[in-house]
Amino acid sequence: MSEETLKPCPFCGSTAIRLTRSGWLDAYYVVCEKCRARGGYSQDENCAVEGWNRRGQQADSFASWIASHPEDREFLRAEIALGIDKALKERRP
Ligand SMILES: [Zn+2]
Repeated sequence: MSEETLKPCPFCGSTAIRLTRSGWLDAYYVVCEKCRARGGYSQDENCAVEGWNRRGQQADSFASWIASHPEDREFLRAEIALGIDKALKERRP
């Protein structure tokens, strides 16, 4: 078992996080029991845990950046809407 502690889910904040092994893929991954968010697959359980914890840090830093830059929220919202619009237009039928 990994020495590193699993961090709470970066999406829903749940601490019901579990290291799981997929026998079919022969790989480990971390899953949130509440919202089913998953970390990446890895042959190594420590890597699966580290990946999950890094994912949490990325989400934390983005959330804190947004919180400290309220003036940029509308800009980001518009950029995201434009990106979705562009993707939909470029989608082949
Ligand atoms: Zn979650």
